[in-house]
Amino acid sequence: MIQEGTPVREILRRWAEHIGRRVMINGWVRTRRDSKAGISFVEVNDGSCLKNLQVIVDHGRDRFQEILQSLTTGASVSITGVVRRSPAKGQPVEVEAESISIVGSCDPASYPLQKKRHSFEFLREIAHLRPRTNTIGAVMRVRNSVSYAVHRFFQERGFYYIHTPIITTSDCEGAGEVFRVTAQQDPEFFGRPTYLTVSGQLQAEVYALALGKVYTFGPTFRAENSQTRRHLSEFWMIEPEMAFADLENDLALAQDFLHHVVSSVMSECDEELQFFSKFFDEKLLERLQTVAERPFEVVTYTEAISLLKKSGENFTYPAEWGCDLQAEHERYLTERVFNGPVAVIHFPRDIKPFYMKVNDDGRTVAAMDVLVAGVGEIIGGSEREYRYELLLEQMKLKGMNPEAYEWYLDLRKYGSVPHAGFGLGLERLIQFLTGVPNIRETIPFPRVPGYAFA
Ligand code: ATP
Ligand code: MN
Repeated sequence: MIQEGTPVREILRRWAEHIGRRVMINGWVRTRRDSKAGISFVEVNDGSCLKNLQVIVDHGRDRFQEILQSLTTGASVSITGVVRRSPAKGQPVEVEAESISIVGSCDPASYPLQKKRHSFEFLREIAHLRPRTNTIGAVMRVRNSVSYAVHRFFQERGFYYIHTPIITTSDCEGAGEVFRVTAQQDPEFFGRPTYLTVSGQLQAEVYALALGKVYTFGPTFRAENSQTRRHLSEFWMIEPEMAFADLENDLALAQDFLHHVVSSVMSECDEELQFFSKFFDEKLLERLQTVAERPFEVVTYTEAISLLKKSGENFTYPAEWGCDLQAEHERYLTERVFNGPVAVIHFPRDIKPFYMKVNDDGRTVAAMDVLVAGVGEIIGGSEREYRYELLLEQMKLKGMNPEAYEWYLDLRKYGSVPHAGFGLGLERLIQFLTGVPNIRETIPFPRVPGYAFA
């Protein structure tokens, strides 16, 4: 069995108690600097945190001279040494190497990661080494922290985690942005058309009307042919669904949820967030703080449209009652009008999917979109149409075939209740939390139109 090293994170966090201790660290060489005095300074990163641990290699020790030529950027190493107080600035401790083993060498001439900053486009082309960069490493630790906070939030509130199917027979959003699923040898494998899920909502509703409160958290696929900085073809969606709940309950849940997740990440990933604010967005922490603390502003869609019309802004798509809010509108509302998170509610019936509850005015539905600075829409939710006749009417109006959704419609026949939920894209949330310019940097292996690797 290979001996587990002490995570660099541990050593740096609780450095005082490590002084004088012998530790072993397993990681990858980031840089090496040789001094004239016969000493090399090797920065080792083990992925447990952003910071490297500095290792002091005294050329005078046996065999170190020989090892030195393999101690190059990218090489994997196992190093044993003693933790000492560091005289250098910017680090409390360093490790004085006693034994070094090169686990996997790395040819510096062909290693694609250089010390300089690489573009994100370039890094996506070397998807196997991309996580060894500071940015992607930090994003992935944030991603982990968010994921855990999501589960903690729902679990602590009595929601059950439901695994909805990835292969589905329905196009929930009705936008036709689906990937077909067939077997290579047998296009009729399921005996009916099947797709990769665009949302687990319809199936989550079924379980909410049995277990009360549920949530899904899984991969979602959309064949939207849009090359934007906030769309992926494969992303992860979080979808809570509550029985005996209306739009107000839904708004309250969304608000608690964002507060919880944003403040957890702020306390757990402090180092990463400092890094992001330094390199991507100096206002990042301030923005996160407003979302962690402030209640949402709530405006109706109708009010939002009149705010946009009054704005005097020259939008690419002029805002008119009945049009969908574009990213430019969303950002104007949250960044310029309210300077904080905004929930827009009660959208026109015609621009929203069939399953949303029709309001008494007959022309709007009980929908909500939560908008935040930088990314615009982060959450889309609604109270669901729980009345059989009205749901049937909605489906017909949208030109859908009710027979294909019998199971969903029939849920309204047997003990139907008001229920509500929302969908939040994990990657949009990470984009908001980190300030990375493109959503492609928030997922380990991004898939977008024209691009997929590994
Ligand atoms: P948009 O208008 O931005 O395309 P949408 O209205 O299609 O979003 P919903 O169908 O309401 O989004 O999906 C719920 C949430 O899923 C969104 O609020 C967003 O966070 C996320 N989301 C939707 N589409 C994508 C995508 N292609 N890539 C990443 N996240 C997405
Ligand atoms: Mn979309």
